[in-house]
This record gives sequence, C-alpha cells and structure tokens, in this order.
Amino acid sequence: MIKRFIRRVFGLPTNTTVRVRREKHGLARDALHPAAAKVCAVLRDGGFSAYVVGGAVRDLLLGIEPKDFDVATDARPEQVKPLFRRALIIGRRFRLVHVMMGAETVEVSTFRAADPETAEKDEHGRVLRDNVFGTQEEDARRRDFTINALYFDPATEEVVDFHGGLADLKKRTLRMIGDPQTRYREDPVRMLRAVRLAGKLGLTIDAATREPIRALAPLIERVPPARVFDEMLKLLLSGHASACLRQLRDVGLQKGLLPLLDVILEQPLGERFVTLALAQTDERVLAERPVSPAFLFAALLWHEVLAAWKSRQARGERAVPALENAMDEVLDTQCAKLAITRKLTATMREVWAMQPRFEMRSGQRAYRLVEASRFRMAYDFLALRAASGEVPAELEAWWRAFQSADAEARKAMLLPDTGPRKRRRRRRRKRPTGTAEPA
Ligand code: ATP
Ligand code: MG
Repeated sequence: MIKRFIRRVFGLPTNTTVRVRREKHGLARDALHPAAAKVCAVLRDGGFSAYVVGGAVRDLLLGIEPKDFDVATDARPEQVKPLFRRALIIGRRFRLVHVMMGAETVEVSTFRAADPETAEKDEHGRVLRDNVFGTQEEDARRRDFTINALYFDPATEEVVDFHGGLADLKKRTLRMIGDPQTRYREDPVRMLRAVRLAGKLGLTIDAATREPIRALAPLIERVPPARVFDEMLKLLLSGHASACLRQLRDVGLQKGLLPLLDVILEQPLGERFVTLALAQTDERVLAERPVSPAFLFAALLWHEVLAAWKSRQARGERAVPALENAMDEVLDTQCAKLAITRKLTATMREVWAMQPRFEMRSGQRAYRLVEASRFRMAYDFLALRAASGEVPAELEAWWRAFQSADAEARKAMLLPDTGPRKRRRRRRRKRPTGTAEPA
C-alpha cells in the first residue's frame, strides 16, 4: 500500500500489469470513429505502434461521445506524414501531424517525455519548454490526470494504463499524475482543467489533487492570457458551465484570480442574469445547437458595463459616450488577464451598444434597429434581460412581435415619439482653411 502510494507520488507506474484486456474494461474497437481506427491501422502496418489516447479514451469508457480523437505513436512526425495522402506537420515548438480523413482530422503525436530535470522553467516552476521525444511510459507521465493517460490499442483492444486510470474512472475520481503541487506549478492551467473535467464529467477531485489549488491559484496570473481565454472558453462551452462554476467555488479558485470569475461568481448585481445566461448556454450546448461565445461573454460582463455606465453618467458624462467609455473600461480590465479575441470584443460591443436602442420604439429608429446586422443577437440579449427582470417583459414582447410583423402591423405598433427631440443643429458651412471669419 505504502509502496503503491510512493510510486504514485513520484509518478511511477503503480502496478505491473499495465495492459488491460477488453474483458476487463469493455471498450471495443468499433466504438472508435472510423478515421481514428484507420489512422492507427495505417501506422501499425507501417511498423509503428499506435494508440488512441487522452480525452477520447476517457470519454468512450464513460459512454460519452468524444469530441475528437488523438493518436499517440512511436513514429516521428516525418515518418507519419508520408503514410497518409492528406497529412500536415504542424506546430513549431512541438511538431505533430494532422491527418485528414474525410471530414475528420486526427491529431497524431509522437510519444514525448517531459523531463522535469531538463525542462526550461520560470522562477515559479512553470515549464516554458519541453520537447523531447520519449517512450510511451514517459508520454503517460507527462499527462495531467490518470484518466487522461489511458491508451487504447485498436489492434488488440487492450488499454494501456500506467497510472491506475481505469480504477479512478470506475471510482469517478480525478487524480493528478505525480505530485499535484509540482504539476500545477509546471502548468497552472491544470487547475482550470481539473475543475472543468470534474464539472463536465461529474467526477470527484481527489483530496490531494484538490487541496493545493486554493494556495496556488494566483499562479494562473502568470499564464499567457490567450491560453487562459482558451481554457475558460472550453469551460464555459462544456455544456456543464454551471457545474464547473460550482467546482470553481468548491476548490477555492475564484477570488481575485480572474476578473471574469469574480464577476461570475460574486456578482451581487447580475447574479440572476448570469445564472440564466449560463443555464441557457448549457442547454444549447447539450442540444447541440450553436452557441455564440461573444453572446456569452457579453452576458457575463453586462452588469459590469451597466454599473460603469451608471457611475459615469452620475459623474456627468452624457449617455452615449458614457456607455462607450464603460465598455472600454470593462474590456480593458478583463483583457489584461484573459485575452478575449478582438473579433469577440467587437461583437460584444455591438450587442451592448444596441441595448439602449430597444427603448426607442418610434418612427425610423425601430425600423433601423430591426435591420441592423446584429439585431438577432441583440434581441436575444434583450430577452435575457427581460427574463432576469432587468427590463419589463412587455418591452421584449413588443420587439418579438415587431420583428415578425408585416409592414402594416409594424406601422400600427410604433409608439408616438415622446423622447426628447434632438435639437436640429444648423450645419455650419465649412470654410476653406486659411480664410478669415467674416465679421
Ligand atoms: P477535451 O478534449 O474533452 O476537452 P482532453 O482531455 O481531450 O479534454 P485536450 O486539451 O484535448 O483535453 O488534451 C488531450 C490530452 O493531452 C489530455 O487528455 C491529456 O492527456 C493531455 N493534456 C492536455 N493538456 C495537458 C496539460 N496541461 N498538462 C498535461 N497534459 C495535458
Ligand atoms: Mg481532446
């Protein structure tokens, strides 16, 4: 028992029988996507070993349809590529091969070692570079959780399990390979991955794996913001965002870590709004309907924008510029640690900026709004605001009716223009520069 524990702490194999037969794990080769099976078969015919690995094996064993298939092999990228008609070597730091089969892309990576002795690290222990090829056993050890380090051999239908991943899957436990502290220091994103996988798959995070997270959470600040964004996006679009966020709270990952998480988890203002947005997103993802990340981020940050907008107006800024400035302010704070892409922020701004325009239901303004390119998304956003009680349900109902009404009905729906009329500004004629003002 102690021996087993020590081996586990040092990331060494915990038992000797690492090849587990199909009778014991129940996974058959026809559960694989044909493209993944084919890639493995071709590699094998070429004289190499080839396994489906990582998330796909884990998901299949749990009875979940995998998102994508990764293959691990002892063939080098330059040996893999010529075996396939459509294959591309990608990645500069660590090269792997994308094999295209029909509509499917299978990622083929060569076994690699992450030698903690030689890897280049920053002063907190974060690994900056690790790119040496290695053995299958080394490849397993560099992976994060035991359930992510399972290799399925389609030829024999055996699962290669160096770290007790099958047992952990059965117990529905998420356990880090090796010493959790060290592994989080090497790559703090693993903390977010732990939370996401536990939330998504309904797993319990093993005590030793969970315990260091609270103290190490600040290390996430040192991770490049683009990576944090990718991981957060995965978490939010996992179909289990609400469960993941509960996990985040449980492991103590929230406070001060990411402004976005503080907003989501501690938002007294927009709690109902955020909860609704996340629940709606989960529902859509699980129903395999498209979800817009821009919409979701816009929702998560809306009450921040509202608060900033209000306080700017209270300080005497005019409504429209105050909203613009509020959006800048919120996005600047967020993007410092979480690189929301430009494309996303542009859409978020559009959706936000359109919200006040829903209040104006007279004349040309209503028509112009319905014709706007982001109208549909902005309207869905309005519906969320109405559902959370922020705006009257009647406003949302009016726009719902207006957009599907015919021309005549629309005309009848328009409200009288009661808003403050813009004073017509007389346009000054531009004088050519250099000419004197007429007396
Ligand atoms: P999913 O694709 O469902 O989000 P996944 O586990 O497949 O989950 P990927 O990001 O596709 O996640 O990674 C594939 C595999 O690579 C993982 O299963 C794991 O073995 C390994 N891996 C990914 N990220 C890390 C990491 N930060 N540290 C160590 N190993 C990792
Ligand atoms: Mg994956």
